[in-house]
Amino acid sequence: MAESKMSLVLDRLAPIYKEGVFPGRSDQSGPPSWPDDPFHVLIATVLSQRTRDENTRRAADKLFQALPDIVSMAQADPLAMEDLIRPAGFPRQKAVAIQRICQEILDSFHGEVPSDIDSLLRLPMVGRKTANCVLAYGFGMDAICVDTHVHRISNLLGEVSTRSPDETEMALRAKVPQSRWRDINRYLVRHGQVLCLPGRERCQECPVQDLCDHGMQAKVSSGSK
Ligand code: SF4
Repeated sequence: MAESKMSLVLDRLAPIYKEGVFPGRSDQSGPPSWPDDPFHVLIATVLSQRTRDENTRRAADKLFQALPDIVSMAQADPLAMEDLIRPAGFPRQKAVAIQRICQEILDSFHGEVPSDIDSLLRLPMVGRKTANCVLAYGFGMDAICVDTHVHRISNLLGEVSTRSPDETEMALRAKVPQSRWRDINRYLVRHGQVLCLPGRERCQECPVQDLCDHGMQAKVSSGSK
């Protein structure tokens, strides 16, 4: 496979952002007290849906401290769980989903988070983004976790031309060497939080501007004024 633009972008971003972390394990409030095994990654990623990283982290810390394993979560009082995860928003919806996920894993997968995407996609509130996040960060497997940052920045770069995160995942799978798949989420999410902000991209400060279609257009536009 020829070297992709994405590989060059990742080569430049990696030394800047070093260890990217998945949502809920950011170290804003000190090192997390829970492990990055598949179960904790799965639950934290469900919590991270439609909220900011710092809210995910607060909810995950409270939840995992009070209910540290799959059995205790499955058997928890639903209202108590809602209280624990309230910082992440949508507490009822997420609490119901988490308890159903735990029960399904206990009933159908011998209490172990499955390591194949089709089984993960059977779980409530688990779409391709969450499933790939579990594969990449929980199991250390080659997977492309496409959240809104990855989808948006991949299109701005001109690496893909897609309308949905799922389309972006498939387009990137076809273009980017498998050995770099995990790095895409690791570094583009951080880039989207720090410099390539949604609608407020700081292209003039960006280390990959010369590789980026949107960045080069912005440069031409500003120079022609
Ligand atoms: S050049 Fe601009 S649009 Fe492109 S990745 Fe950098 S900040 Fe984002």
